[in-house]
Amino acid sequence: MTIQLNDFKRAWAEIGQTVASATERVGASGWYVLGREVERFETALAAWWPCAAAIGVGNGLDALEIALRCLSIGPGHKVLTTPLSAFATTLAIVRAGATPVFVDIDDRGLIDLEAAGRRLAVGDISAILPVHLYGHPVDLDHLQELAEHFAVPVLEDCAQSAGARWNSRPTGSVSGIAATSFYPTKNLGALGDGGAVLATDPTHFERARSLRSYGEKGRYRHVEAGLNSRLDELQAAILADAMLPNLDRWNRRRREIAGRLLSELPRSITTLHPQAAADPCWHLFPVRVSADQRDSFRRHLADSGVPTGVHYPHTIVDQPVLASAQFEAPPLPRAKAWVEQVVSLPIHPWLNDSEVETIVRTCQTWRS
Ligand SMILES: *Cc1c(COP(=O)(O)O)cnc(C)c1O
Repeated sequence: MTIQLNDFKRAWAEIGQTVASATERVGASGWYVLGREVERFETALAAWWPCAAAIGVGNGLDALEIALRCLSIGPGHKVLTTPLSAFATTLAIVRAGATPVFVDIDDRGLIDLEAAGRRLAVGDISAILPVHLYGHPVDLDHLQELAEHFAVPVLEDCAQSAGARWNSRPTGSVSGIAATSFYPTKNLGALGDGGAVLATDPTHFERARSLRSYGEKGRYRHVEAGLNSRLDELQAAILADAMLPNLDRWNRRRREIAGRLLSELPRSITTLHPQAAADPCWHLFPVRVSADQRDSFRRHLADSGVPTGVHYPHTIVDQPVLASAQFEAPPLPRAKAWVEQVVSLPIHPWLNDSEVETIVRTCQTWRS
């Protein structure tokens, strides 16, 4: 028995049978791309999230690009975003042809909305792309205020926030357009790649359906240069049968583990306490230690069989590819410090109580 950062083998022991029968059904149906299984999963996901419609696409990156294009964001537009996220968040802006504009993070690692407000006041931003990082919701009320005051749409990156809520409201609801990912490590993960655009406006969901399939509108008629980015029938059937029905329970287990870690980790380790209005889905459990002690902290945990991760080791503006892309960023002292201090502890739903105990004890015996 070893503690994993993501335990796909224990997940398989739980869902394997269901996946096998979903696979049998799809295989026997003789229909493998954009059919009934995708429609059925889209309906179930929209009801669970909830949102008006979910459009299944190939992955989270494409979901973000397609959603930006639904908002008619392209060359000449600036999109305000965070320097701390999976690279895909910024890559989607670059791929849509727009220019990413960064502001620093707050003390929870989320986009600093005060700084965002000051940057929006300049008047040249066409959309905001916040990330509900680690499963912690960004303040949706504040986001809504910014969207209304500056009359810019908000596209929410919900890849890590399936099940997260702000004052009982799901993420993705500010401007009614959002993107999520079914990459296997996510709270709602497939057995391969997948993603979805979440939308409330019918013009957005029609355009997203067209963009995922070569910009087709009507059979064999192409109205814009779209992508080939379709969720396949097999992943949709697996998500609908084996994953989505268990997600609330898995997220409850993540919350239970987070509750224990929050109350029992020693003070030398800084945790991310959620704000009163926030109900995170705990995609990850990042903590911070001083930069010069991070290696020794990680080694101490590894020696006791507790694996750790770093989300993320670099700010997005420091990615080599951005050197050749247009972007705009002020100095980002908080993000730069964050990437040198952050450590992710295991929090997946298949950890048993004695393993959680091991994680807590090992943190308690670390001498900083
Ligand atoms: C995983 C992730 C993505 C990209 O999703 P893929 O399906 O891997 O393309 C985008 N944003 C965030 C915050 C993510 O965690």
